[in-house]
Amino acid sequence: MSQFPEKLFFAFTIFWFLLGILFYYLFIIKKDYNFKIKYFKFAIILISFIFIGFLVILAPPLKAILIMIIGITVIMFLNYKTTQFCQKCGKTIIGQPFQKKVEYCPHCGNNLKEGIK
Ligand SMILES: [Zn+2]
Repeated sequence: MSQFPEKLFFAFTIFWFLLGILFYYLFIIKKDYNFKIKYFKFAIILISFIFIGFLVILAPPLKAILIMIIGITVIMFLNYKTTQFCQKCGKTIIGQPFQKKVEYCPHCGNNLKEGIK
């Protein structure tokens, strides 16, 4: 590995770590339902593009890039589909893939399908 990718990899690791902290704050700690509903899909798309962009810069074989793009797309889609936000308490509920969606908020008991009662 030449000097350039090593520096790039280090910079990306720092950037990725900071982005992780920011998104953890915005989508896990913060309890703003409207914000989460509005920006979650954009956050997922942004993260996917940043990650795929980084992979492309590292220039692995085309086959590896394609496999990783498929993998990242599937993982991000599952993240999007299994993550819910409670309207009442604003907390994030992360479900399990291939299981039934969580119907009640585990934090406050609110019915997630019907909204606030
Ligand atoms: Zn709740």
